Amino acid sequence: MAKRKTHFEDCDVLVVGGGMAGTGAAFEARHWGRDLKIICVEKANIDRSGAVAQGLYAINCYMGMQWDENQPEDHVRYARNDLMGMVREDLGYDMARHVDSTVHMFDEWGLPMMKNEKTGRYLREGKWQIMIHGESYKPIVAEAAKKSADKIYNRIMITHLLMDETKENRVGGAVGFNMRTGDYYVFRAKTVIVAAGGASHIFKPRAVGEGMGRTWYAPWSNGSAYALPIAVGAKMTQMENRIVLCRFKDGYGPVGAYFLHLKTYTQNANGENYEKKWYENTKKMVGEYIDHHPTPTCLRNHAFIQETIAGGGPIHMVTKEAFQDPHLETVGWENFLGMTVGQAVVWASQNIDPKYTNPELTTSEPYVMGSHATCSGAWVSGPEDLSPPEYFWGYNRMLTVEGLFGAGDTVGGSAHKFSSGSFTEGRLAAKAAVKYIEDQKAKDIKVSDKQCEEFKNIIYKPLENYTVGRNEITGGTVSPSYISPIQGLQRLQRIMDEYVGGIATNYMTNENMLKRGLELLQWLEEDLENVGAEDYHQLMRAWELKHRALTSQCVTEHTLFREETRWPGYYYRGDHMKLDDENWHCLTVSRRDPKTGKFTMEKIPVYHIVDDEKEKKKAS
Ligand SMILES: Cc1cc2nc3c(=O)[nH]c(=O)nc-3n(C[C@H](O)[C@H](O)[C@H](O)COP(=O)(O)OP(=O)(O)OC[C@H]3O[C@@H](n4cnc5c(N)ncnc54)[C@H](O)[C@@H]3O)c2cc1C
Repeated sequence: MAKRKTHFEDCDVLVVGGGMAGTGAAFEARHWGRDLKIICVEKANIDRSGAVAQGLYAINCYMGMQWDENQPEDHVRYARNDLMGMVREDLGYDMARHVDSTVHMFDEWGLPMMKNEKTGRYLREGKWQIMIHGESYKPIVAEAAKKSADKIYNRIMITHLLMDETKENRVGGAVGFNMRTGDYYVFRAKTVIVAAGGASHIFKPRAVGEGMGRTWYAPWSNGSAYALPIAVGAKMTQMENRIVLCRFKDGYGPVGAYFLHLKTYTQNANGENYEKKWYENTKKMVGEYIDHHPTPTCLRNHAFIQETIAGGGPIHMVTKEAFQDPHLETVGWENFLGMTVGQAVVWASQNIDPKYTNPELTTSEPYVMGSHATCSGAWVSGPEDLSPPEYFWGYNRMLTVEGLFGAGDTVGGSAHKFSSGSFTEGRLAAKAAVKYIEDQKAKDIKVSDKQCEEFKNIIYKPLENYTVGRNEITGGTVSPSYISPIQGLQRLQRIMDEYVGGIATNYMTNENMLKRGLELLQWLEEDLENVGAEDYHQLMRAWELKHRALTSQCVTEHTLFREETRWPGYYYRGDHMKLDDENWHCLTVSRRDPKTGKFTMEKIPVYHIVDDEKEKKKAS
């Protein structure tokens, strides 16, 4: 171990993850902190990393305030409605009021935006979405980060946060390893912004075996954004609010442009509008929420899932009508070209031409993330001018650990940020992080060599486990004393799938199943001490797995705590099959004690800062 090379880097702002939020953070940190040392550390290569690696066809969050198309209040109402009331409106409003300026910068930086030639306005796909030729979206925003940061480290996976030894609950940096050289990296930092994306592959995916990487959500997003803060005792919120996506079957190609721009629609195998059929059933579960417009995403999933269980599948997207129009046909195909080429390949391999065959849809395995139609993530302080006292503790987007900030999928409570909103939130977090440093809050941080050395031993242990344990193998890959990362991952996925509401049970769970799931996760955690890695790539897999496992514990604790079915279509609590506004119109917040590993849960009020029309009427 002593022979392994260690690199030390001291900096002011450390950005963990160079995806949409991380690039936004690096860019903005330089704007406010001209003389500060800014480092961004990325597990892949920021030119093509994160959920936007393949590109996007639409920027899903743009207000259009300059043309009075939408105002931030409208977006708050929209997100609140879609999440069945459960959002942090202060965070949502704050993101929405700044997001247009982000999009205008993307335009200036050369991102090809589709515009109406006469009006100059961006072409809308839907109320919030604008269309782009976005294959190169990620390299374009990466360039801004590269020009802003002092240094970008690619191919380094951050595994742990460092903590200050002079002041309790204050961050001191992060450590990780280079997946190509195996070198150990210590980043001592005054502030850390975690922007490491969401979590795929914690629930067993539909595509297994050789197709395992084919998930909707980026397979390399492994929940580091949650595990890093959870491990140091940061509070998390809404971790039960996993997302299930309705997408084209097998390729997980996007449906947004199809629904919104091509005006395609869904039907069951008999050509019926099945959503109508499930109206009464849904109303009994969630009451008037089913009458909201637009219908919340989870409730549309609910109709899909119930119809399939009742034998009405397969569910199809009716493309045959729209594709008769050559323009719409082109848009339909280009949509995949810009972000999910694989869907076109799947259709070709299955002999599906959407002009003549209506393609099948599916509901995905669940994912955990904070920026899409879902809001799992860290419990953060909101902005000073908007947040009620319970939501504010000094610095915007700071977690409950001092000096530790979050953005994008990391941050809970603020759904529907998407790519532009995540970049914007990175900017907001970075601005606050710089202020934190300027306010002298990061003075005299001490991170001892001992702390760094201890993490070094922990990080490389899977290599040691393998080196020692492989000698006991007499045949195949089964070892008496270690498990491989893939074996551990499959075990995790089965636990989550079968006990915590995955596809095996049609997203159903209950108290007994969750308690059993927690027990199994606890044993898995013990066994993960014995995970073995044969090379640096497998070492990354081992740490991805450990981060996934910790994230899963948190998800399961939250799911157990919320005794209602708030989001039918995302998951069901079979023992509490109704939405219960009387007892559960609140946010759930957890904290894992870093010393004992025990989670404590609490309810925190949801403040509806932006009045919706109905509330206004009631008040008048
Ligand atoms: C399939 C899909 C389709 C989408 N479609 C759209 C769309 O059409 N329009 C739209 O606007 N938005 C879309 N989104 C949403 C958008 O992509 C996300 O909101 C956004 O990427 C979130 O930003 P982020 O920085 O939090 O995560 P990401 O952009 O995913 O970045 C996370 C980064 O962290 C890195 N990382 C992870 N762990 C570590 C670690 N331990 N150490 C170092 N680095 C690490 C990752 O490699 C990655 O680069 C889509 C998302 C998905 C998954």
